[in-house]
Amino acid sequence: MIKKAKKIWMNGKLVPWEKAKVHFLTHALHYGTGVFEGIRCYNTEKGPAIFRLDAHIERLFDSEKIIGFKVPYSKKKVREAVVKTIKANKLKECYIRPLVYFGYGKMGLNPIDCKIDIGIACWEWPTYLGKKGIENGIRAKVSSYARDNVNISLTKGKITGNYINSALAKVEAIRSGYDEAVMLDAEGFVSECSAENLFIVRDGVVLTVPKATILEGITRDSIIKIAKDLRMPCREEMLTRDQLYIADEAFMTGTAAEVTPMVEIDNRKIGSGKPGAITKKLQNAFFGIVRGENPKYKKWLTYVK
Ligand code: PMP
Repeated sequence: MIKKAKKIWMNGKLVPWEKAKVHFLTHALHYGTGVFEGIRCYNTEKGPAIFRLDAHIERLFDSEKIIGFKVPYSKKKVREAVVKTIKANKLKECYIRPLVYFGYGKMGLNPIDCKIDIGIACWEWPTYLGKKGIENGIRAKVSSYARDNVNISLTKGKITGNYINSALAKVEAIRSGYDEAVMLDAEGFVSECSAENLFIVRDGVVLTVPKATILEGITRDSIIKIAKDLRMPCREEMLTRDQLYIADEAFMTGTAAEVTPMVEIDNRKIGSGKPGAITKKLQNAFFGIVRGENPKYKKWLTYVK
C-alpha cells in the first residue's frame, strides 16, 4: 500500500491527501489520456535533493507535445510546484508523481475542449524491487507481450494509456514466479523492461539498446554518462534475447527501480548468478551521486530549501 503523505498539489493548490479526488467521468480515467513523470528526491548531507528535476520536467512537456496538447502551466511553475509539494509534506526522501491529464467535461475519444488538469503527489517509496533486489539482484522473464510498437503507442511519451502494455507484462512475470519482465519489440529485438531500461555487460563492455523503441530513461542516460566518466567502454547496440542469456552481467535502470542487478533471465543464470563487478561499480557511483557525495555531478541535484 502507498505510504500516505500529507498534501497533494492539484491545479495550483495544496489539498489534503484524502481530498485529492477526481470525478468518475474524468477523461483520462476512461481513455488513458494523460502524461506523467516519476522523479526521486534523496536525502543528502545538505538536505533533500531532487535528482535530475529539469530532465524530468523536459520529458513531461515532451510527452504532452507527443500527445499534442499543452500543459496548462510553464515549466518553471511545474518545477516550483514539485519543490513546494515536497516541502509541504516535510519529506526527506520520496518519489514524486506529476500527472497532467484530460479531466472532466467531455466523454468520447476526442478530448479537445476537455479541461486539462495537473496534479503532483509525493510519498515515501522505497526502491521498487526491494532492498534484496538492489543487493542480490532479481529474476526476469522475457514477456510473451511485445513492447508497444513505435507507431502505435508513441513510446517516447510517458503516456498513461501506454502502461497497460507494461502492466500486462509485469503481472505475467509476477504470476509466473519472476520479479520483472523483459520486453522484446515487435521484431523480436530486446526493448526494455516494464518500467526500466536494460543494460548488459559482455567482455567488459557496457551495452544498452538504442533509443528507438524504448522510453528514454533518465537513469539510463545518467548511467551512460557515469560509465563514460569512469572510462568504461559503453555502447548502444541492438540486442537479441540470446545475447541476454550469454551476458556476463545484466542490470536495469529506472527512477523507481534505481540500478537493480538482474541475475537470472528465463531460468538461465547471468554470469555467476550474482550481481557483477561492473554493475556494482556503476550502482555505487549512482547512489553516491544521488546522495550528493560526488561534487562533479552536483548540477544533477536540486536542493529542496
Ligand atoms: N522504461 C519505461 C517503460 C518506464 O516506465 C521507465 C520509468 N520511467 C523507464 C524505462 C526508466 O526511465 P527513468 O530512468 O527516466 O525513470
